Parts: sequence; structure tokens; C-alpha cells
Amino acid sequence: MAFVPSDRIKNVQKSATRRLYDAAPQGSINLGLGEPDFLTPEIVRGEAERVIREERLGYTPNAGLPALREKIAAYHSEGLKEAFGAASVCVTNGAEEALFAVMMALLNPGDEAALPDPGFSAYATIAEIAGAKVAPFAMPAAQGFQFDRASFANAITDKTRLALIVSPSNPTSRVIARDDLQFIAERLRGSEVYVIADEIYRELYFDERPASLSEFYDKTIIVSGLSKMMSMTGWRLGWAVANPEVIQYVTVMHQYISSCASAISQKAGLAAFTEEGRAATKAMRDELRHRRDVMAQAIERELGLPYVSGEGGFYIMLDVSQFGAAEEVAMRLLEERVITVPGDAFGAQGSGYLRLSFSIEPALIEEAIGRIARGLSKGQS
Ligand code: PLP
Repeated sequence: MAFVPSDRIKNVQKSATRRLYDAAPQGSINLGLGEPDFLTPEIVRGEAERVIREERLGYTPNAGLPALREKIAAYHSEGLKEAFGAASVCVTNGAEEALFAVMMALLNPGDEAALPDPGFSAYATIAEIAGAKVAPFAMPAAQGFQFDRASFANAITDKTRLALIVSPSNPTSRVIARDDLQFIAERLRGSEVYVIADEIYRELYFDERPASLSEFYDKTIIVSGLSKMMSMTGWRLGWAVANPEVIQYVTVMHQYISSCASAISQKAGLAAFTEEGRAATKAMRDELRHRRDVMAQAIERELGLPYVSGEGGFYIMLDVSQFGAAEEVAMRLLEERVITVPGDAFGAQGSGYLRLSFSIEPALIEEAIGRIARGLSKGQS
């Protein structure tokens, strides 16, 4: 008899990024990447080498090494009136596990989760696995994917248990302005709604460092990690930071998912919080700003299509609506050996757009935009 999966998993699809990637011919340039292409900075790699040779690497406490939790708490306390302590931190296997543990600890079947459209596709999938109903709020394409107060307010009902914001955003790289964060806090004050603030791209900004909702709203649960800011996606080191009462339950969930994050990654990850670690992040930020300019200029020169470029992260949203459905355009571009992600994968507002990642070498960005130009011109003939 064929295997019958559980109800909670049977409708979960392979992500569009994966599908495109699996269908790509050899020699493709990958503009679908969700990670920086830099080597993890030497200060972290060196420390990992040392701890492997010299230290015992047993389980750590479920919530993570106390020294690391303290560093993370101090890092997220900058600019806050009341500082976080170690008890406010649960270290997880990447930000993805933090999202999972938080949602599973917070949501009951029938609760509503207000999620951004477009937004990282894991949000809706995890909320649904937890049994919640997704209430998308539009970050309207017509407004350059900026936060829209009316859409957010309309998505909040008396059933809302969770709202989620991501700034800078995946897939749009847009940052939510400080006064919009204040609006969210005002709208929710006095309610039982918790807000996940996904800050995984926060250090990869181009002008001003984005503000955090935690400055304005005490029911904020910050989700972040070293994946993007230290180019450590494969090391699986993330965390959730919130009121200790919340973190206590998140830690129980995390304990039964994975016991603890990798001891090697936790010990080596401490180096990210040194001056040298911060300098490495700054160097990546500066390089990404340059790559964004390279991609934007190549789009203007080679394609002449509308596009949205944000204030951080490493994505540009390219408007290909005049060439048909984005998924078909993305499939066609595979013939030119370039991988992109159709915006629909992130929600209805993303339709007609391709998400292009500029986290690769500038020369490859130029080559890829040239291939897109060739692919699109064939489509028209
Ligand atoms: N949040 C956002 C917005 C992301 O784009 C990603 C990864 O692409 C994650 C969370 C997950 O990060 P991690 O690799 O730390 O699990």
C-alpha cells in the first residue's frame, strides 16, 4: 500500500526555488540563491578548527551555551530601554528552526497568523503545519512592496494570535520604516498578539541600519541568526529572543525538535560577536551594496524593465509581467541557463515578478542579466 502522510504534511509542496534548481541545466548561473556566496569569515572558521581539536563537544544546554546566549541578548539589546538577558534567548538550528519552534509553541488550531504577502514561503507553511489559518497582508507591488498600514490593520482580527514582519524582506529587500513599526506597536498595544520580527537580514543594510519592532512593542519575538550576516547558512545557527516566559516554551519545543544547536557552531559562532566578526559583516555589507548597484545598472542597460530594489538584503524584484506568468518566464530562462525564482512563490503580490539574488560575483551578475535579455527577446519574437 502507498504511504499515507499525515494531514499536516500532505499538502506541503517542494519549494519553487528547489523545483527550479532541480530543473536547471549544467552551467546555469544561479540568481535564485538565498544565501551569500562568501566564505564564512576566517575568525569563525579558525575558531571552529580550534574547538574541534581542543574542546569536548557534547550536548549543550537546550537553549544554548550561556556565553553565547549572553552575547545574543546584548546584541539585541542595543537601543532598547530594557536589556534582554540570557534567559530571553533560545539558540536553534538556524532561524528556520526558530520560526518552527516559535509558531508551534504559540499557535493553536483555528488561530490566525497575519503574514506578509509577498513573504518567505516557510512562514505560511509552518503556520499551517501548526494548524493556524493564514491571513495575508499585502505589501503591495503597486507601492513598491512597501509596508501598507491599512492592509496590515485589516488582517488583524480577534482571532489573530500571531503577526509576522520581515525587514529587510525576503523576497523584496524592502525595509519597514521606523514610523511603520511604531504604527504596528500602536495598533496591537493591549492585545494578545505576538509579533515575530524576522531580522535575519538586518545587518545587510545599504544606508541606515533598520530599526527593530522590539524597540516599540514588548510582545515581539525576534528571530535571527548568523546565516546571512556571517555567511554561515550551512552551520545552522539561529535564535529566538523574547520575554523569558515565551522563550521557556519555545525551548521546550526546540528540545523535542533537535535537543540543541551544534556545539561546534555555537562555540565558533561566539567569534561573530567580536570586533573582527563585526568588521567581517561590514565588509560583506559593502560588497553586497556594490553588487546591488551592478545588478541595477545591468537591468537598466540590458533590459529596461521596471524593478524594485530595497534598502538591504540581496534581492531585486524584476517586473516581467509583460512576458507572461512569472513561473513560465522562469522556466524559459532556464533554457538560457539562468536560475530565477518566480515571485508568486512568495504570495499573490509577487506575481509578475522574478526574484533575482545579487549575492554572487559581479561578473556573473552581468552575464546572467545578459542571458535574461537574450531569453526575453526570444520569447517576444
Ligand atoms: N528568514 C528568512 C526571511 C530567510 O530568507 C531565511 C532563509 O533563507 C530564513 C529565515 C532561514 O534562515 P536559516 O538559514 O538561518 O535557517
